[in-house]
Amino acid sequence: MRKIIYLITLLFIVFVGFLIYPFLKSNKSNSSKGNVKQQHILRNINSNHSNNFGKNWQQAQGIPVLCYHQIVSKVQFKKRPTPYAVTVSQFRNQINWLKKEHYKTLTIAQFYDYMTGKKPINEKFVLITFDDGLNDFSKHAQKILEKVNFKAVLFIYPTWVIAKKKRALKPWQIANLSKLGYDIESHTFWHPKLTKMNVKDQTFQFKRSRKFLKKWSKKKEISYLAYPFGLFNETSVGLLKKLSYKAAFTIFPGINLPGQNPYAFMRYMVVKGDSLKRFQQKLEKKSIPIFKSNPNFGAIIPSKGKNVTITIPTNLVTQNLALYYKRKKLKYKYNNENGKLTFFLKLKKGKIHNVNIKYKDGKINYRQTMLFNRLRSK
Ligand SMILES: [Zn+2]
Repeated sequence: MRKIIYLITLLFIVFVGFLIYPFLKSNKSNSSKGNVKQQHILRNINSNHSNNFGKNWQQAQGIPVLCYHQIVSKVQFKKRPTPYAVTVSQFRNQINWLKKEHYKTLTIAQFYDYMTGKKPINEKFVLITFDDGLNDFSKHAQKILEKVNFKAVLFIYPTWVIAKKKRALKPWQIANLSKLGYDIESHTFWHPKLTKMNVKDQTFQFKRSRKFLKKWSKKKEISYLAYPFGLFNETSVGLLKKLSYKAAFTIFPGINLPGQNPYAFMRYMVVKGDSLKRFQQKLEKKSIPIFKSNPNFGAIIPSKGKNVTITIPTNLVTQNLALYYKRKKLKYKYNNENGKLTFFLKLKKGKIHNVNIKYKDGKINYRQTMLFNRLRSK
């Protein structure tokens, strides 16, 4: 009798188990479906955020970033002519022109807020940056900037300061500049070509430079970096994110638009050869936004080539849309409805691999630069 009761109980449990099992299973798969759905929504929010000016992209205001290196006297220039130098009088004319045209300068944190869409851009802004950490800044540039109340960012690489080079800023000068409100940020530790470095070496550059600059500037954090020579790869971007650097700057031309990749902000180099007119043109250029890129900017392209897909505004007129690599036109496929543009990219020998996208609407030219890397042969 007991055996029978036992058997019935067992059968009952198995039966109930059978009834419950599909329910448990579906519940489980439902919850994983829920996760997928949630992730999908999240992804949509992210992409919508970057697409926030949608059809009105042509009206979207951008912010140009200027990149200076040396500001020299005429005598200094005669002694050592270099294309990266700008004379004091050239610099003064440029700054006065910006003031006259009602440009407002920004701190790097303000620039970042505009670029991430925290505030709408409703004025003419410019971010003025100086690379390397030359004492030209305190000798020549500072007076000119302060006369018109302009802000600036200094991207410094510490080994240049540590070596006490004749033209390098001194730690006490960096401290003073920081106290006055100039942004002190990283230009790596010793100015290497990051694209030739592995993870460990790049990490060292980002961490070590930050350590010294924090000490000198007495700032709590160093959150921005300018890539030496403008060069970077996907490893650099991954590491910067991991080390909580908020953004990084190249030296490739373009006006920055909200929602664009913060690890590839464009800058216009200002050089000796720039007439005032050419300087003005740089500031008044227009950009076409690139919302997404697959692979990401800085990716290493295999030697046999690879398809690249970027997301740009929708409904562009393809006759007016062109892609260039080393001055040659690239073929592409463009989808009007979702703005996806695909092209095949095979890189030639050389160090710098920019793909330029150009769009012409009436008299206005819009452009943007994309940077990729070539797989180095061993
Ligand atoms: Zn530099």
